[in-house]
Amino acid sequence: MTQKIYSVCVIGGGSAGTMAALRAVLNNDECLFFPGSPQNKKRSRAMWVKKVENMPSHLQYKRGIEGPNAETLKWISESPFKDKLIHHKNTGVISLKKENDVFKILDSKNNLHFAKFVILCTGVMDVQPEIQGSIEKVFDYANAQTIDYCLICDGHHSLHKDVSVIGYSNTAAWVSIILYERYQPKSMSILTNGKSSEFEADTKKLIETYGIRVLESPIESIEGENKGEVLQSFTLKDKTQVKADLCFISLGMIIYNELAKELGAELDERGFVKTAESGESSVPGLYVAGDLRSNAKKQIYTAWDHAVNAANSINMRIRASKRLI
Ligand SMILES: Cc1cc2nc3c(=O)[nH]c(=O)nc-3n(C[C@H](O)[C@H](O)[C@H](O)COP(=O)(O)OP(=O)(O)OC[C@H]3O[C@@H](n4cnc5c(N)ncnc54)[C@H](O)[C@@H]3O)c2cc1C
Repeated sequence: MTQKIYSVCVIGGGSAGTMAALRAVLNNDECLFFPGSPQNKKRSRAMWVKKVENMPSHLQYKRGIEGPNAETLKWISESPFKDKLIHHKNTGVISLKKENDVFKILDSKNNLHFAKFVILCTGVMDVQPEIQGSIEKVFDYANAQTIDYCLICDGHHSLHKDVSVIGYSNTAAWVSIILYERYQPKSMSILTNGKSSEFEADTKKLIETYGIRVLESPIESIEGENKGEVLQSFTLKDKTQVKADLCFISLGMIIYNELAKELGAELDERGFVKTAESGESSVPGLYVAGDLRSNAKKQIYTAWDHAVNAANSINMRIRASKRLI
């Protein structure tokens, strides 16, 4: 039996993936959609995003990515385009190969699928700090957003607060400097959690000028109340207690680039996938959208823009291939 070759396959069901699937079906292209297995979802940024305050018309959602995405998929399933979306719910992709110009997609339920074009939207995850050998100590606070990860999304929460940044790189130092300059927090500390700081000389000078404390002792515990709703302080191994009602983590990212690597796509030095403006990677027909893409802001609206460009570029190629003259 010959297997059907679909026009488009979207891998990932966060901000980029849902927008890519929506744009593909609105372009009237048949689209296979793998939003990820429960394990993929649990490890995605989409799952961790609560209230989105830095974009218009998102305040009504308690879960700023999952909420609107679920509404969109429901709308597609009731629309005239419903047959265009082949939605493999709770399913991820575990292998992606290309043979004779066709992508071979092996899903997490061990079924094989074929597509002419792929839009890869598997995203990234923020590295969590280990506190006494475990990353779980931050989860309640991250859930309640008293511990945050994204300066552009949640930096404004620092206004007039006692703020800590966990990190040791020059980037972490710049997170603290930007927050300090923008929001005049009551106090600002950088907790390197047992690592030596790696700040460049000019950065160090600014940190000193602003009176930002740099504390290198490991974090022993986090104090707070109400399942993370209230953050009070960090206690360090040297017994210093650092007052904090908000914290940002800046320890880098885990990049879900395994499928791109399997195809031999070109990556940048950090592991993000390099693409042209259209989103096409160095592997013809493999497009990338969202946080996985090199050289791009890691935001919902940028993920949407990438996804639309990728789906439209694919549609342009499909239409051109069918054109009679
Ligand atoms: C705590 C937090 C708060 C944030 N707040 C904001 C905000 O207020 N505003 C804003 O603009 N941005 C915010 N961001 C950033 C935003 O979450 C990301 O920029 C956005 O989610 C990126 O979209 P994405 O589709 O690339 O990745 P994600 O949304 O993370 O989606 C990745 C998807 O890939 C799937 N997946 C992974 N591996 C596989 C696989 N092998 N097969 C199939 N599927 C797979 C997952 O299931 C998931 O559906 C925040 C981030 C964090 C961590």
